[in-house]
Amino acid sequence: MSSIYDKYETVVGLEVHAQLLTATKAYSNDLNEYGGLPNTNVSAITLGLPGTLPMHNAKVMEYAVRLGLAVNATIREENQYARKNYFYADLPKGYQITQDTTPVCNGGYITIKLPNGTEKNINLTRIHWEEDAGKSIHDQDPFDTLIDLNRAGTPLLEIVTEPDFSSSEEAYVYLNEVRKLLRYIGICDGNMEEGSMRCDANISVRLKGAEKLGRRTEVKNMNSMRNVQRAIDFEVKRQIDVLEAGGTISQDTRGFDPVTGETTMQRSKETANDYRYFPEPDLPPVFITQDYIASIKATMPLLPNQLFDKYVHELKLPEYDANVIIERKEFAMYFEQLILLTTNYKAASNWVMGPVKSYLNEYAIDIDKLTLTPQHIADMIAMTDANKINFNIANQQIMPALIATPSKTALQVATELNVIQESNADLLSELVTKVLAQYPEKVAEYKAGKMGLLGLFMGEVMKLSGGKADPKLTTQLLKQQLDN
Ligand code: ADP
Ligand code: MG
Repeated sequence: MSSIYDKYETVVGLEVHAQLLTATKAYSNDLNEYGGLPNTNVSAITLGLPGTLPMHNAKVMEYAVRLGLAVNATIREENQYARKNYFYADLPKGYQITQDTTPVCNGGYITIKLPNGTEKNINLTRIHWEEDAGKSIHDQDPFDTLIDLNRAGTPLLEIVTEPDFSSSEEAYVYLNEVRKLLRYIGICDGNMEEGSMRCDANISVRLKGAEKLGRRTEVKNMNSMRNVQRAIDFEVKRQIDVLEAGGTISQDTRGFDPVTGETTMQRSKETANDYRYFPEPDLPPVFITQDYIASIKATMPLLPNQLFDKYVHELKLPEYDANVIIERKEFAMYFEQLILLTTNYKAASNWVMGPVKSYLNEYAIDIDKLTLTPQHIADMIAMTDANKINFNIANQQIMPALIATPSKTALQVATELNVIQESNADLLSELVTKVLAQYPEKVAEYKAGKMGLLGLFMGEVMKLSGGKADPKLTTQLLKQQLDN
């Protein structure tokens, strides 16, 4: 049964604000840090007191170029600062220094991979730098709004997409991809809950096949990727309901309430601000030369999609493995070290996706806090491949011991634990003979076709060897003697 909702398609464009990990603010030497005591990182420049002048922060420019390179954007040579005027209590200067007609980047795209396996390029309209406002705190004092200006003047990059999303799921996957990219190039911690990455969603619907875009609403400042997805779902349904009831969409700015899952109107376009942009008189334009861009390019790390290609095409790992490894930069960097120390890449990915990841999850620690080193893992892989230990022993006994005493080598630990397995064929052969002699009836059953009994014999040989028998060789020897 088709519903009214099937007649329409979703159109979304996203604006992401990324707070930059610079040491100081965008236009002053005030520290740029999260969580300081309120109003401690606030100089006369941040306050915009008469007679003060803003300064250009070269790190902001560098970070913008890094991002521009990562998304294949065109990077502008002559960058003008613009003044955007509005009044708000947490904006002490009465204006924001941003970019207007000369965004540092135009064009470029970010590739998203959808759960159904398809890929899509989301085109970017522009990226520009600007400063953040302070924070108005409404919930700590019953009578007054409190103002913390520590955030005022901290640098942001705003990343604006074309209206290229046709579902809330695409928007969700995109945000995850943007966050990954920002973290890989080290310019933003991407923590939406702390507000260091924020998203506004522009949402409209139109009849399928229609060319003209529908009128849009803008949902502001959401602080989780799931909430962006929920807000889009809610808005799309709301807009279709309005249209189907014969109404029109008015171009409102709306807020999202995570508790009810609904959007509510904050202001309408009729009362929208006129920001009266003009070129910032206190800051001359900055120039980004091709030489400068080349120098930044030389310091760029491998990006997630480049690592993905390397793992799949050069190391021949399954796509699933590659995706898991690249999801977090720290994780990928650990793996990058590991594959310098072993050429058994599949074993390496099994180790990090299996025992390492489980350990990190179980103890809720990040991989940079893990005492088990890539060298430890490489040694365990080498010993396993040489049939000196088996994977279960490595995972269950050697790995915990190494985590507890990381100064030891895997070989030392394996020797101390007395788990280096017997692959001396003569010795094993004797054990096999002994076991088969113990179970004449079972041997007869095996010979009559009950092949599953092999496991029993195997277990007995293992017991006799104190867990040190090489399973592969044991199986071979068992079969040889049983088939005689
Ligand atoms: P503003 O300056 O009001 O934020 P922009 O023209 O810069 O407006 O657009 C902001 C965002 O809105 C962009 O991401 C753009 O792709 C998106 N957008 C524009 N029109 C629509 C529409 N009809 N439906 C959905 N998104 C839209
Ligand atoms: Mg906007």
